[in-house]
Amino acid sequence: MPEAPLDCLVIGGGSGGLAAARRAAARGAKVALVEASRLGGTCVHAGCIPKKLLWVAAELALGLDDAEALGFELERRSLDWGRFTRAIAAHTASLGARYARHLEAEGVRRIEGRARLVGPGVVDVDGRRFEARHVILATGGAPRVPDVPGAALGITSDALFTLPELPCRLCVVGGGYIGVEAASIFRALGSEVTLATRRSHALHDFGATLREALAAELSALGVALAPALVPAALERAGDGLFLRGAQGERLGPFDRVLWAIGRDPATSSLGLEAAGVALGPRGEVLVDAYQDTAVPGIHAVGDVTGGRELTPVAIAEGRRLADRLFGGSPASRVDHDDVPTVVFSLPPVGSVGLSLEAARERHGEAARAYRSTFTATRYALTRRRPRTTVELVVAGADERVVGVHVVGAGADELLQGFAVALKLGARKADLDRTIAIHPTTAEELVTLR
Ligand code: FAD
Ligand code: NAP
Repeated sequence: MPEAPLDCLVIGGGSGGLAAARRAAARGAKVALVEASRLGGTCVHAGCIPKKLLWVAAELALGLDDAEALGFELERRSLDWGRFTRAIAAHTASLGARYARHLEAEGVRRIEGRARLVGPGVVDVDGRRFEARHVILATGGAPRVPDVPGAALGITSDALFTLPELPCRLCVVGGGYIGVEAASIFRALGSEVTLATRRSHALHDFGATLREALAAELSALGVALAPALVPAALERAGDGLFLRGAQGERLGPFDRVLWAIGRDPATSSLGLEAAGVALGPRGEVLVDAYQDTAVPGIHAVGDVTGGRELTPVAIAEGRRLADRLFGGSPASRVDHDDVPTVVFSLPPVGSVGLSLEAARERHGEAARAYRSTFTATRYALTRRRPRTTVELVVAGADERVVGVHVVGAGADELLQGFAVALKLGARKADLDRTIAIHPTTAEELVTLR
């Protein structure tokens, strides 16, 4: 006898899919979630969480030098890479298990296997058929590898957290989030690192102030910058790997080469053509502002839609969608403006709203920036002297805050509150009349002149 149709079938148990399924169940829907691999998805197993733990270790590694400069006497300073990465794997596995318990407790049926649409509302999971009034696609994405000879000699971020050893000589290709994070983390942990970017700079989308400040800090950290290098081939010769550029450049030898050149939405083999779901040029599922595809009853959230590839965005999309479909909130949708974001480089980069360039495009000469660069008290006695840069972008006669940008220690934790202020429509005068917290980096943002 065929099973009774579900209210909702979610494909993908990562950030977006878990959020959608759990919220739909909380709203009373009969829900199942299909996951082909590990519950938790990219963020838990090959993204945010293991990356943040590596970043913590990298910060501590730099902190050991700082501690010595302050007078601490440290004997053993080496990192037991094997112990550390095993601890990371155990932690992320425990998070996956915790999600399984949540799903069970909240009444979400868990289906293990690979799902494929065979028609609107009909899904095949390794030979089993399920019907649902609503299908939510949340299959995420996968790292892109360039189409150049020898590309398979390199690795992607999927392999980064389970490397058998800390690479002595690492080349990172790509100047986006993963490239900049990996380059600084591995450099701080002791690797020799080269960061190859096809443009003259990394973090192109972040505006000149952040880009230039970060480039200076990466250089100070000892990352070798290889700008304007378009990868043409990867070769093994002698004791290492060599990266060839399109202009005849040859970089190397390296022990590892990391491709960090973006991610592709996971839409192949999903049966989307059979269901009539349209894809964009990058293979992303096309959705409207409510996460609806053009096919009634088929929706998509998270990285598979090709939007901002961030966990909180995927979670918000999943929850708002479930609220709309099952929670009696017909207008529920995500406001994708002014998404705050942090790049976990060393130092971190925090950014919300418009860069000065983007603000000038939107507001013309009415946009201006207040900026300050300084050495934080945190580094008053250390050998290294990282510079912190803060920037406030304002627009209009009343100087409404349209952008807040920070490169420096603490940027990761201080930004969230300023993002709330920006969302509430704060004026510069509102920041000015807020009493500063001293001595911090955040205070610079309320004392800018
Ligand atoms: P995913 O988390 O990728 O989940 C998709 C799931 O679908 C997977 O579990 C997959 O196995 C499953 N699946 C795929 N196809 C099928 C199928 N046919 N059937 C069944 N299951 C299927 N974001 C941040 O906000 N902060 C960070 O610090 C951060 N760091 C990152 C670091 C790295 C190295 C990477 C790669 C990403 C990072 N991100 C970060 C981005 C973040 O991980 C993603 O935006 C987020 O995981 C997207 O969630 P998702 O649900 O859309 O997809
Ligand atoms: P990304 O941030 O989009 O950056 C991709 C980089 O690769 C860009 O610098 C791009 O250069 C370059 N590139 C693209 N194609 C290339 C090619 N063929 N050869 C050489 N360089 C090429 O992608 P990502 O770093 O892979 O990360 C994927 C996504 O995961 C991010 O967009 C982000 O949303 C998410 N993520 C978030 C965090 C976080 O929140 N802290 C951390 C990691 C990842 P151009 O500038 O010239 O396009």
